[in-house]
Amino acid sequence: MNNTSTNEVSTQQGNAPESSEHTAGPRFLIIGAGMAGMLAAIKLQEAGYTNMRVYEKASELGGTWRENTYPGVACDVPSQLYSYSFAPNPEWSHFFSPGNEIEAYFKDVAARFDIMKYIQFNAEVTRLDYEEGRWHLQTEGGIKDVGDFVIAATGVLHHPSYPDIKGMDDFEGISFHSARWDNDIPLVDKRIGIIGTGSTAVQIVSALGGSVKELNVFQRTAQWVLKVENPPIDENDKKRYRENIDELRGLHDSLSRWFSDNFANAVVDADSEMVKLMEKLCVQNLEENVNDPVLREALRPNYRAACKRLVISPNFYEAIQRPGVNLITSKIDRIEKNGIRTVDGELHELDIIVYATGFHVDAFMRPMAVFGRGGESLADVWHDRPSAYLSISIPEFPNLFMLNGPNGPVGNFSLIEVAELQFDYIMQLIDQVLSGQCREISATRDALERFDEDRIEAAKKTVWVTGCRSWYLDDRGIPVAWPWTFDRFREEMAAPELSHYERV
Ligand code: NAP
Repeated sequence: MNNTSTNEVSTQQGNAPESSEHTAGPRFLIIGAGMAGMLAAIKLQEAGYTNMRVYEKASELGGTWRENTYPGVACDVPSQLYSYSFAPNPEWSHFFSPGNEIEAYFKDVAARFDIMKYIQFNAEVTRLDYEEGRWHLQTEGGIKDVGDFVIAATGVLHHPSYPDIKGMDDFEGISFHSARWDNDIPLVDKRIGIIGTGSTAVQIVSALGGSVKELNVFQRTAQWVLKVENPPIDENDKKRYRENIDELRGLHDSLSRWFSDNFANAVVDADSEMVKLMEKLCVQNLEENVNDPVLREALRPNYRAACKRLVISPNFYEAIQRPGVNLITSKIDRIEKNGIRTVDGELHELDIIVYATGFHVDAFMRPMAVFGRGGESLADVWHDRPSAYLSISIPEFPNLFMLNGPNGPVGNFSLIEVAELQFDYIMQLIDQVLSGQCREISATRDALERFDEDRIEAAKKTVWVTGCRSWYLDDRGIPVAWPWTFDRFREEMAAPELSHYERV
């Protein structure tokens, strides 16, 4: 590869890239300006690579935290851990800080690290073609760009999933998905129905229960809930963190260790003592905090704790017992113009229906059309389901890498840490090209096949296959998440095994 490649950026519509754009050195095309895309831009700039553009389909950065603005939205990973390792934040207000604060943090980091100049907003990438050793990109608005490397940072929980319930279009009130919350609608005088009981619904119920006219929670499957308090961070602590940023770094690292040992390393072994302890604490939460025995049994799951992603909440059980909050366990039959009718024949009259029904978690780069070496189509390669070697590289799609791609670690820990480890690994692959060892690099088919076989085998031991339905499972019931310990992930990410890569 020629290390001083020229950019061939042209626009038919949309904003032209800034004239100050750097054009020397290899060109990087980053897709998505959420947490992971921002990370890539910051790290590339730090390494001296400034010939890049971040394509973002929305008009703001922030990914998940831009899209999820529902009442009660927060990150249930401690804020000191859910921060970039290189940008500790002494200002977090709470142990688990609210979504708007997290979004503001990302905006602040983008400004401080001076990466806004690389971001092309309102530019949805629709197509990528690998031709003559370079990636040719097109956006919906007609921008064309050519780069040497693509980093796809398109997110996991990104495409809202709506249920398939009869009569959804007949509803005459207001309805929206939790990730499309309309904050202009006053809620106090409304009868609201929430479909779903995942992490999102639990946060909404905790925020709204008792402060709206009626809140009806439609539960298909009960959830285990781990009670963790969310105290505000004391002003004295903030002052100390400001003055001693190393203490904050130490806190980040010790929380990371704690989450690895107690969540990530535990859930991949269904028989582990930690999983049993989690179960005990969840049962205790239910027993101690739900008074009415009928309600308590309705809220008791019939599968093991942590089989689905564990819901963390300081007060869900308290919220579900507030006045005006109803748990409905009768199955939904249909949606009608005035509300939701359950199979017991009852019509639950509603003004608003919220679909807290999760996301399509197998889309990744799609619906973008991506064509690799020889015109190989990603839509064909991923026809059955998405896969990537170590969640990062796809055979025949050289010099294209994913952050938080398929089969990576997801769960009750920080995806920022996952992306940071992945980026350092990807940089080592890119260095193979930049140092002239090869022109193209992508995982071999053989490496991907073995990776898939091994992860499917390892997943048999995880708590995710102990008898529940969740987004961790694919259409065959096989876990999609990294099935080994987080320590193993750290080890794999430390240095690529180059014999697993095709280098041309
Ligand atoms: P989710 O965990 O996928 O939950 C979807 C809910 O909708 C489930 O209760 C599901 O019931 C229900 N549902 C789906 N289709 C339905 C239908 N046709 N009829 C009735 N119920 C239906 O989605 P989520 O709560 O949005 O959370 C997704 C992920 O986002 C989480 O697991 C987590 O990783 C992340 N998240 C994180 C935080 C955080 O604080 N870090 C907060 C929110 C979300 P079943 O259980 O029966 O399938």
